[in-house]
Amino acid sequence: IRILIIKKRMREKKRHCGKQLILYFIQSRGAMNNDKKVKYVKIGDEPVQKKKKKKPDYGLGEKITPAKVILKTLGIIGTTVSAMVLVVIIAMCIVVTGLALYVTQFAETDFDVSLEDAELNSSTFIYGYDSDGNEVQLKQLSSDENRVLIKLEDLPQHVIDAFISAEDARFLEHEGVDWKRTVAVTVRMVVSGGTEGGSTITQQLVRDITGDKEVSIGRKLREVFRALELEKKYSKKDILESYLNRIGFGGTSYGIASASIQYFDKTPDKLTVAEAAILAGLIRSPSSFNPYANLSKAREKQLRCLDNMYEYGYLTTQEYNQAVKEQVKFRLPVKGDDFGYVDERYNEFYGIQEDGELSDPYYENVSWEELGVSESESYVPYKWKGNYEVSQNWYVDAAIDQIITDLAELKDISKSAARTLFYKGGYKAYLNMDIEMQNQLEELFLDPSLCLKFYSSEPITDLPETAENEIEIAKRNLMQGSFIITNHSGTVLALVGGLGEKEGDGCFNRATMDTQTIGSTVKPLSVYSLAVENNLLTYSTFLKDQSGKVSVGAIGGTYGPYDGYDPSDNTVRWPHNFQETGFGDGLYYPAWYAVQKSKNTMAVYTLSLVGLQNAFNQLTEKLHFNLDPVNDFSYSPLAMGQFTEGVTLISLAAAYAMIGNGGLYYHPYLYSKVVDQDGRIVLSQNTVGERVISSDTAYITGRLMRKVVEDAGASGSYADLGNIEVLGKTGTANDESTYTFVGITPEYVGCYRLSRDNHQAIYMNSGWQIIPKVWGDVMKVITADEPAQSFVKDPNVVILDYCTKTGFIAGENCTETQKGYYRKSKIPQICDGDKDHDSSYYVEHYGVNEIPLYD
Ligand SMILES: [Zn+2]
Repeated sequence: IRILIIKKRMREKKRHCGKQLILYFIQSRGAMNNDKKVKYVKIGDEPVQKKKKKKPDYGLGEKITPAKVILKTLGIIGTTVSAMVLVVIIAMCIVVTGLALYVTQFAETDFDVSLEDAELNSSTFIYGYDSDGNEVQLKQLSSDENRVLIKLEDLPQHVIDAFISAEDARFLEHEGVDWKRTVAVTVRMVVSGGTEGGSTITQQLVRDITGDKEVSIGRKLREVFRALELEKKYSKKDILESYLNRIGFGGTSYGIASASIQYFDKTPDKLTVAEAAILAGLIRSPSSFNPYANLSKAREKQLRCLDNMYEYGYLTTQEYNQAVKEQVKFRLPVKGDDFGYVDERYNEFYGIQEDGELSDPYYENVSWEELGVSESESYVPYKWKGNYEVSQNWYVDAAIDQIITDLAELKDISKSAARTLFYKGGYKAYLNMDIEMQNQLEELFLDPSLCLKFYSSEPITDLPETAENEIEIAKRNLMQGSFIITNHSGTVLALVGGLGEKEGDGCFNRATMDTQTIGSTVKPLSVYSLAVENNLLTYSTFLKDQSGKVSVGAIGGTYGPYDGYDPSDNTVRWPHNFQETGFGDGLYYPAWYAVQKSKNTMAVYTLSLVGLQNAFNQLTEKLHFNLDPVNDFSYSPLAMGQFTEGVTLISLAAAYAMIGNGGLYYHPYLYSKVVDQDGRIVLSQNTVGERVISSDTAYITGRLMRKVVEDAGASGSYADLGNIEVLGKTGTANDESTYTFVGITPEYVGCYRLSRDNHQAIYMNSGWQIIPKVWGDVMKVITADEPAQSFVKDPNVVILDYCTKTGFIAGENCTETQKGYYRKSKIPQICDGDKDHDSSYYVEHYGVNEIPLYD
């Protein structure tokens, strides 16, 4: 192997000068605060050389004739210089002491890292329970499953050359740390404030094995020592082989074999020079340099890698030219012509019409980057075909992912290290999966027509929209569905992360990984429950269906339609209702109606009463949504769920459990416990509920949601389960890229979402009705054998008749009344019949004759 010969040659050439570590520390102040920090500045590879400074000549030598004044001045300078020298000496003492402390501390640290560390060899087992409560073994794990291992000798030489050229040109020369480059990078960091890597392949491998991800000088030093140790123990071949098999290439792709399939649909032994250079070029930042996220960037990094390979003599001029010109073909369609051709599959794949327009008008002239796709680490545009093996269901996928995440946090190691540890650490994991329910759900979602039988969008493909073509059309449109069922105390019972056949183990899971806009399903969580909790409205409080004037900067998210821009105060007329009433009909309706019809006008008005801060805190701190503190702190995200990144379906289900359990939040768990080889519990489900709202508020919010399902013709009426009571809420993204339905029964929370992986509009006629219908179809199967169930009234809630003309508690003069639900602490006034029935009273009473201003 060429690499070993080169290595030998390098060794012979090497001068055996003892390398000395030179460390300088400077005290520096953090730019933003006054915390003193020790900043690591340089590591050099040359022995300390005492630089002989010229003795300062103060002009006091032989020529002794200056004036006394000058002499005196010079004397002062002399004193100053001496003082400075003293200060420098003292500073050096401090530095040396600090360094000594560091070394002493490090002496107790174990720098020994081995490539076999991760090669624990006890299998981990995963268990579930059947309906009789018997333990059932679901799976035996071994770490080779999702990582196709490859031997270095099976790789073409140019693949190895590409990685060395891109990541660590002196890999074959150094002993773990490239001092020269470290110094260069450090100097650049100090001068221009950059954060360029400079880590060798060995150092990167150490980081990956140990999972030591702390950002500090200590970590950097540990890494250096460990890299030096690793190089003493292993050959360059072993290190490189381990590196290429472990490193992440974006998404769930780890190791070069898996990356070759992910990007080029081939095994790594068949990689061309051009392809190898793309892979080598993207590993510095797989999420943004990969060709699916940003083709231009991938091309730029590829060319840089090829230039390096040429410069280092790994490629002849002819090979170089050929590689530069190669029209690389990718597994998935790519956007752009950076590789010398336009990918014809792209338009069909991403729904671009023949005239070149994107089929979604909202996305006209919006670049892929602007859609935020490349920003998302987890986003990989998966398609239905795949070369992955399927050996476990959606639930087991998601449970393993959750366990690995929790293990990484517990041990403070990387996810990659946690993964290896879990797969071969001899653990026993007990999942919360309801096996029967999971099987039912998987079976239903295997047939995409479940979600598509009402699908009647404009076809993007030229296929006739017949029953036989349904699945094919869905595939081409990348229509995707996901479903999750939990109980009310954070236990996840069943989930599916996609429509149709699963692509492979650990593939993209739309129930747990996909963040999407949740639309109006946010309203009960961030607006109405808080308004009830703070006694700002009751079940029957009258609200006006009317949009307001909103400062453009306060809207945030995606706007949806707006009107009447006023340049004098930078406001627009907003929001628009989802249904036919546009900017509102100006009439008054009770609060339950606002929820039932999902009126944006009333939600935004109620949010203005609640306050953005309260709503934001409720979602982030109490319901644990991961929101953007700047962009999501505004009306459209908080009142209409149009979030920057979005929320996963599992997070939505966990948040909604509070409506069913009396106001508590429980973290959603897919496992109950993980036990190690010695029988000790390593991880266990957190079963402690955190109070979000009071139980009477939870019950009343549930009653508001009951209206969504209960009334014929309401948006969620299709989700009715007969004698099992259902509370519901629909949600549609402003750009129609997602439809969501949340349904709560006395036993379960079920969330269903229809979306596309490319976040494009779905174009489903009356999608807001179809989504609850699918939800109902699924839940009818799930609850088939269950007895009648209804929610139990909270003891602090009273049921009273209210007057439908005012929303007040019905008085003796009120003719039309309905049943309302009220906190004992907030019962509306009694309607007097006469004055109260006069419609002018509302204007006077609520004082909203003028258009409200939200800022
Ligand atoms: Zn009345």
